[in-house]
Order: sequence, then structure tokens, then C-alpha cells
Amino acid sequence: MEKAKQIACDFIDKCADDLHQLSRSIWENPELAYKEHHAHDVITKFLEKHDFPVEKHYKLDTAFRAEFSTSDPKNKPRVAVICEYDALPGIGHACGHNLIAEIGVAAGIAIKHAMTSCGETLTGQLSVIGTPAEEGRCGKHDLIAAGAFTSVDVAMMAHPSQYTLARPKYTSMIPVTIKFSGQAAHSASHPWEGLNALDAAVMCYNSVSCLRQQMKPTWRVHGVIRNGGVEPNIIPDETELEFFLRAPSEAELEVLKKKVIDCINGAALCTGCQASFTFGAKHYQALLSNNTMAELFEENGGQLGIEFDQREEIRTKFGGSTDMGNVSHVVPSIHPKFYIGTTVSNHSKGFTTAAATDIAQTYSLNVAKALAMTAIDILSKPELLPKIQEDFHKDIKGTS
Ligand SMILES: [Zn+2]
Ligand SMILES: [Zn+2]
Repeated sequence: MEKAKQIACDFIDKCADDLHQLSRSIWENPELAYKEHHAHDVITKFLEKHDFPVEKHYKLDTAFRAEFSTSDPKNKPRVAVICEYDALPGIGHACGHNLIAEIGVAAGIAIKHAMTSCGETLTGQLSVIGTPAEEGRCGKHDLIAAGAFTSVDVAMMAHPSQYTLARPKYTSMIPVTIKFSGQAAHSASHPWEGLNALDAAVMCYNSVSCLRQQMKPTWRVHGVIRNGGVEPNIIPDETELEFFLRAPSEAELEVLKKKVIDCINGAALCTGCQASFTFGAKHYQALLSNNTMAELFEENGGQLGIEFDQREEIRTKFGGSTDMGNVSHVVPSIHPKFYIGTTVSNHSKGFTTAAATDIAQTYSLNVAKALAMTAIDILSKPELLPKIQEDFHKDIKGTS
């Protein structure tokens, strides 16, 4: 292994106990989107202990940015390692974001240590960016809008999963809130005077269910009825549903949106109710995994003994969405997934338990090393950034 990479990996091993403790502290204090105050404080304190100048509350209350530059006048490339640290309501760190934070910090301190140890062979700018509210609130959308990624050339992070993949598939996702307004009446004495908004909601839900047969296998629509009326003896006059719509690209998401709008309007028409619907102002964009960066990650991971899942059905499987997708449309990015010793799915209590195990530590720190090695490649080999940017422009062109 090259010297700088060895220095980075050894440093992660040296700090393993402290990193585990950091992860544990975040896991034991699960915080919801935009309220990650404990995580913000413990992570920034940890980075400061490692002589990282940190801007706390960077653009958002629970975001941060730690930045380190060598004295190289060009200050390029500019590599960002991303931390996430929000939890889920009721089930704590069921997505393992405590491990994402740990990995971001581990890679950050290791790359910085290698940069300070290697002098002129490893120059550039490194930032560790703390990004709140990944779960359901698309926090990175806010950070992008606030200009957090304008001074970044490449961004990287890694996410715990049941599988290890360098370029996992994540869909575009947009939420829609639907309201039906009808007319209340006595359900037994004057039902003909009512306009039943619950019927409209049920019609809408069932129409989407019928639509599902004609949807592509990579599309998803899933929803709940948030308000289904008040009492059985009152014809419901106000109801509300919320759906999430997902597709592998912006273009396909547009097609799906139109089909769902037809379901909404059809339900309104056949029940005589009024429909109104609002698509979320923020939406998750499909992840663009930068090919050159993913290849580097696979190569470095391979050297560390990380085994990437080769099964076609896993490599091509679309699942959820990530706001790192939005970042990947702004700067070249990777967001590998990695196995943490369990086959139970994210967002379950089993995954919460798994995210705190010792075995998850072994997998996480190995991935942190692979990220650090990938960053070291990009910082030390000037021919890589133009290649990464070329891939990025091709990917962006492919989405339009
Ligand atoms: Zn999640
Ligand atoms: Zn997650």
C-alpha cells in the first residue's frame, strides 16, 4: 500500500476506540431531523480535538463544516467527506446514521493526518461537512441552496445496509399531499345531501393501487390516509392522504406524477368532491455514482478485503432515496452502501440494534479507510480530477 494510505489507515486503527465511543454516543441519543444538537456538538468537539478548524451551525443550526487546507496555492482538489446523524421517529438509529457520522469523521481525521505527514505529495483542501435531516426532510437540498457545495470538487460518504455496493441505485422521490373537500351530512337521515370525501380518498388510493399494475418495476408509489373523517354518522367532508412517488430518473418521475394526478382528479370527479394537491417543494434526486470515484473506491476497498456484492439482482435493485442524490447532481459524488453484519432491512428495530454492535464497527472503519484512500488518490494524482469531472458531465447530460 502507498505510504500516505498506510498512514491514514493506521491512524483510523489508532483512533478506533474514540471513534466507537463517538458513534455510540450518537446512537444512544437519537435525534430527529434538524434537532441533532447532541450529535452536532459531540462531532464538532471530536473534530476540534483533532485540530480541525470547525464552523459550527454552518448555514443550518445543526450542520457544520470542518476545513483543512495545505499551503498549496491552487488549493485543489477540494474533497468533502459527508456526515449524516439524524435518527427516525420511535426506532432510533434504524438507518445507522451514527455509523455514517463516525465514518465521515474517521476518514476526515485520517486524510488530514496523512496530508500533514506527507507534505508536498498530498496537497489540496479537505472538508468534513455535517448534513442534518436526511430522513424525510431532504436536508442537503437546503445546504445546496445555501451554497454549501460551491467550494467542493468531489463529495463522498458511505451508508450502512444489508449489501456492500460501490454504486447503489437510489430513486428520485417527491412527496404529494392530497386533500379532498366534500360536504358533511347525517349519514343515516340525509346521506344524499353529503359529498363523501372519504370515498374520494378511498377511490384515489384504489386508483393508485390499480395503476401499480401498469407501473415500471422500478417505480414506487406508497401512501397513507392521514385524515379519514371524524365519526361514522357524519359524511366526511375533509380528508387527506400523503403519497411518496419514486422513479429512477427525473423524466420518469414526471410521467408517474401525471398518472397519479389523474387518479386524484378521477376520484374527485366520481364523488363530486373538490381535490387539491401539493407536491413537496423539495425532492430527492436519483443518485449519480461517479464512475471514476466508484472504481477507485472498489480498488481501495478490495485492498482492504472488502467484498462487493456481484449479484445482478442486488446491483440493479432500486430501493429508497437519499438526499446525497441531490449533492451528486451538483458535484461528482459516491455514496457506497456497506454490510454491517445483518440482513435485516434499514428502518427496522433489528437494524437499530445492528448499528450499535462491535461487528458493525469493523465493517464501518474498513469503509472509512477505503474512503480515505480514495480521497488520497484524488488529492495525490492530478490526472484523476479531470476524469472525474468528465464522468460527471456525461452523467448530468444523460439526465436531461
Ligand atoms: Zn433511512
Ligand atoms: Zn439513511
